[in-house]
Amino acid sequence: MKMNTEGDTNGNMDDIMQKQINEWFDKEDRVLPILKELIRFRSVNPPGNEHSLAVFICEWLADRGFDVTVQRVEEGRSNIIANFGCSGHIGMILNGHLDVVPAAGEWRYPPFEATLENGKIYGRGTADMKGGIAAMMAAAEFISTFRLAGSKKLSLVFVCDEESGNKGMRRYVADRITADAAIIGEPTQLEIHTGHRGFMNIKITAYGISCHSSHPENGINAIYIMSDIIQNLKKYQEHLKSRKDKYLGNATISVGTIKGGIKVNIVPDECTIEMERRLLPGETREEIINELKTWINCSEEVIEIETLPELKASGSKPDSVLVRDLSLLIQKSFGKAPMVKAFPAGCEASFFTEELNIPAVIFGPGSLEQAHRSDEWVCEKQLRKAAKIYSGISLKYTK
Ligand SMILES: [Zn+2]
Repeated sequence: MKMNTEGDTNGNMDDIMQKQINEWFDKEDRVLPILKELIRFRSVNPPGNEHSLAVFICEWLADRGFDVTVQRVEEGRSNIIANFGCSGHIGMILNGHLDVVPAAGEWRYPPFEATLENGKIYGRGTADMKGGIAAMMAAAEFISTFRLAGSKKLSLVFVCDEESGNKGMRRYVADRITADAAIIGEPTQLEIHTGHRGFMNIKITAYGISCHSSHPENGINAIYIMSDIIQNLKKYQEHLKSRKDKYLGNATISVGTIKGGIKVNIVPDECTIEMERRLLPGETREEIINELKTWINCSEEVIEIETLPELKASGSKPDSVLVRDLSLLIQKSFGKAPMVKAFPAGCEASFFTEELNIPAVIFGPGSLEQAHRSDEWVCEKQLRKAAKIYSGISLKYTK
């Protein structure tokens, strides 16, 4: 398939391109066969084991002319980076994650087979987000049939460990890649989602002195220390309601677990809480810990604060060029402008927008409501539509 670009206006070119994309994807089902293969790999996190899936995708893309790299992250865990096109610069990154959450709960359908029934495909990861990856691979196959001289590169980046510590993405951004734009294929029901809140997990341990409960005055009760801290955290939670981003809503803090004491007749010497702080763009780890210390208002000698690496918020806005281009393409393809709003959960878009300064949006098939549930599904029609849009936008950004 070749495109003659001479003498065409942009509008004509877009129309020809659109026609070719539609013909390619309507002639036969290009996405479902790929998704079926992907669902078979049990890349369940923990522990992940994404390496064999990464190798499968690499070989598949190499067969279609992509320049592929399996990037080892740790034992049994890898990213894949597959580039297509001749010049050095990357015009578009299509990104997804290879891991899925465990297939917990009761399932009517086998979780590691993609079962098609009444237009829905069931299986673990169909929505979050092997469906998105399959649509991106199908788009990549379509693009590989084009040979435009002087085109920018299309880069497919599929990473491990999105569902826990983002180790794959942290490794990927360490190479400081630059590109014109990126699309993250998390499930958005084909709406365009721009930006998301980040989060940080925080653990506080209060230390006291244990003694027999018949003379509690001889000890220091760690649960009492923690009880004061929790009251102050409730005030902090109220205070955060006023820290708002126009698109993303407000920052929050929420205590999720509490553990303390071993026996009713011992004054406890240790009490631990775990909490989650949802972050807005620009909030840094250091600032948050300092602010937290001020609010809990407790002597640092009796407490310990631990945090896991945070996921930053993405501040990408609905008025960007990328959102405009994608909206126009969707409107042209399906006759209706897409909804544009913030992504309600956390995802890895912030690694592109905040760490690499690459404009990024979240756009993919399936619904977040299906994610992490039993009998997870994605609509077959949405898969095909996603593949068409990924194809169109990738051609636009790599021509
Ligand atoms: Zn996901």
